[in-house]
Amino acid sequence: MTAAFPASGTILVTGITGFVGSHVAEGFLAKGYRIRGTLRSAAKAKSLEIRWNAAGYAGKFEFVSADLSAENAFLEAAHGVDAIAHVASPVTFTAADPYRDVINPAVQGTLSVLRAAKATPSVKRVVITSSVVSMFQQKSGHTYTEADWNDWASDVVKASGTEASGFVTYLASKAEAERAAWKFVEDEKPAFTVSTICPVYIWGPPINSPSSANGAGLTVQMLYDWITGVTTQLDSSPSFNAYVDVRDVAKAHVEAIIRPNANGRYLLSAGTASWTEIAEVIHELYPERPIPKPAAEPDAPVKDVIYGSRAVKELGIEYKPLTTTMKYMLDEMIRSVEGASH
Ligand code: NAP
Repeated sequence: MTAAFPASGTILVTGITGFVGSHVAEGFLAKGYRIRGTLRSAAKAKSLEIRWNAAGYAGKFEFVSADLSAENAFLEAAHGVDAIAHVASPVTFTAADPYRDVINPAVQGTLSVLRAAKATPSVKRVVITSSVVSMFQQKSGHTYTEADWNDWASDVVKASGTEASGFVTYLASKAEAERAAWKFVEDEKPAFTVSTICPVYIWGPPINSPSSANGAGLTVQMLYDWITGVTTQLDSSPSFNAYVDVRDVAKAHVEAIIRPNANGRYLLSAGTASWTEIAEVIHELYPERPIPKPAAEPDAPVKDVIYGSRAVKELGIEYKPLTTTMKYMLDEMIRSVEGASH
């Protein structure tokens, strides 16, 4: 068993202004830790500052600038911290250059975090936000576990170059970054423990209040576009369609740092749902709003089994149901984008 993690201390959170990073940081603040968050734009942290000061966390958080691609990006930021939650990564399906814009920053950023941790003796734990896409198999009807690896997306991007689809590029970036992390652990045998959190589609209420739909993060914006009539037609569901609440994802990061036995990969999924099933849940919650039509072909039920049971057993996650996640998320979007209360 690893030594107990201290009940107070400082956690470095990368990508603190993002959808997931802001929740992860708030999760640590709620447990009594101090936070140092990395960002690229101080302006994006303004609403977090207001929110956390109002919640009584004044003086418990600070922000520092860091870009994933910069040399030794996190060395200074890591100074004196007890643990690092590395959340930042390019989240886009529309990059002009797959390597320059997505894959290289994802891999280099992860390695910079691990090198900074190794150079900082106070660091006891590192948790990295990976994704189920680093496990994703090209067959349907698969039961996902932490033993699965996506060993194909990188080859597709290599073969296609700048013609590679943005989606496959993102898949490759997450698989390569997570592989690089585990190779670092194998080669360097660091004194700190490492966990990777591999969530499926993350939804839930954004806390870094988006004043426009596209400030909320890609996945949240996608469903807000449904109820505002921007998206009128659903795609067919991929076999791996699954969901998890952002608050459960944040908790998994916190528990992976503070629980003595936590380490290794954690698939994070509350269950599967096709686009049509998700649209039905949303339509029941907001019957007066538009909802996209199902895919032209009948939308097949999701055949894969994707459920993160290791995170339930070892991190104490109790997954929120889809309806709860959708209601909190879309109420928050309606409030902050439209200035209305639901
Ligand atoms: P997000 O809101 O776009 O957050 C991404 C964060 O990464 C932002 O803080 C962003 O900074 C930062 N970032 C991107 N490129 C950077 C760079 N070159 N240098 C420094 N920072 C950079 O997306 P998210 O959904 O919260 O994603 C957070 C993490 O969760 C990512 O690792 C993602 O792969 C993972 N994940 C997300 C989902 C999902 O469904 N949302 C599912 C599985 C895994 P800016 O604010 O300055 O842009």
